[in-house]
Amino acid sequence: MAAFDSSAGESSVNVDSPTSEHTRPPRREFKARGSFVTRCDHCQLPVLNCLCPYQVKAESHAQVWLLTHPIEHYKPTNTGRLIRDVITTTQVFTWYRVAPDAQLAALLKDPRYAPFVIFPDDQPDYADRVVGIDAVHAAKAQARIPVFIILDGTWRQARRMFRKSAYLDGLPVLPLKSERETRYRLRKPASKAHLCTAEVAIELLRQGGDTAAADVLDDYFEVFNDSYAASRLHHKIDPPTAAMQRLAKQRASDSEPGHPGANRGT
Ligand SMILES: [Zn+2]
Repeated sequence: MAAFDSSAGESSVNVDSPTSEHTRPPRREFKARGSFVTRCDHCQLPVLNCLCPYQVKAESHAQVWLLTHPIEHYKPTNTGRLIRDVITTTQVFTWYRVAPDAQLAALLKDPRYAPFVIFPDDQPDYADRVVGIDAVHAAKAQARIPVFIILDGTWRQARRMFRKSAYLDGLPVLPLKSERETRYRLRKPASKAHLCTAEVAIELLRQGGDTAAADVLDDYFEVFNDSYAASRLHHKIDPPTAAMQRLAKQRASDSEPGHPGANRGT
């Protein structure tokens, strides 16, 4: 439920089934502003403010599975990939309307996981499926792995994904309740309350008790946000921000022998 109001509308891309992967639209339709800039092969940011020195891994009890709209995959401003960079258990599936990704279908049946679809509770017709964050803590208490399934696309795309995917119908719906206002600067939100994908994950992880992982991801998101915005102005961020310094320090200590821990503060 990345609630962006992106200008990229729904194109003719066929999202009915996994076979439609072959009919993906050509890349050129998704050229972002500044796409002539030389980008780092790893983080995809302009080399001027490459994100790689700040990539830190963190461990979380809960997992994030992204159900990503096919169009969203092509956008360099997508923040879903930041979650995967930090939390290595993150899974990314392409959304198809009729059939789920085969691997996702199998995982949804795996009793080790307690999956929740992250979606607002603003419509009455699925009120019986709505749960609160206490359900996440209850799953943990039962030694199950809570999974936040985040619909990664524009607000309109996320709503379609939620409504049109029968394979999500049996899952509990967890609305994100947060006072956080978005800090995402790369797309214009319709409302400050509309968080981007990474911010949704940060808040869910925090509320679910994965505080250290949420903090690392929050820093990494902030560095991405600042670096990308600065690069649009062809400006190099120097000296490093506080978030950059925290991540660089963590990265240095993670690489020291005898310090394999990936969590800040552990
Ligand atoms: Zn890089």
